[in-house]
Amino acid sequence: MPTFVRTDKCDGCKGQDKTACMYICHHDLMKLDKDGSETGHAMKAWNQEPEQCWECYSCVKICPQQAIECRHYADVVPLGGSVQPLRGTDSIMWTIKFRNGNIKRFKFPIRTTAEGSIKPYEGKPKADASKLDAIEFFTPNCIHACDRSQLVNG
Ligand code: SF4
Ligand code: SF4
Repeated sequence: MPTFVRTDKCDGCKGQDKTACMYICHHDLMKLDKDGSETGHAMKAWNQEPEQCWECYSCVKICPQQAIECRHYADVVPLGGSVQPLRGTDSIMWTIKFRNGNIKRFKFPIRTTAEGSIKPYEGKPKADASKLDAIEFFTPNCIHACDRSQLVNG
């Protein structure tokens, strides 16, 4: 199940142009409805394309208001339960609420690399888009030739 925003908790990141959830979503799914024209909830964020959500939890973890919820995997949260992470500087506290009301919490350390300081492509060769049609870039089940018109940097 994709993320959803609890409108009673979201404060629109206090009206910043790019909210925390918009900043972190690698899929550009989160959007702030500034005037309420899109959702009926002004200054609340929403997941504009839920079927594209990876349920990666990045936005859930970064939201300063704990306003975003997402179903977790069954090995962590059994059916009917809920989970809410609270991010600290060096750890995340996960709160699991079971359907019978029981609550369990566990704390997990996180990396402390300064946000935005990682350079994932440093030292790597620049991508060569001309190789996209090469057979080795096709998965075994892929039968579609690359449609270059759909590439952002094609
Ligand atoms: S990060 Fe949280 S508080 Fe900020 S806009 Fe997104 S859902 Fe709302
Ligand atoms: S769970 Fe991941 S993919 Fe889904 S909206 Fe949040 S950041 Fe984006």
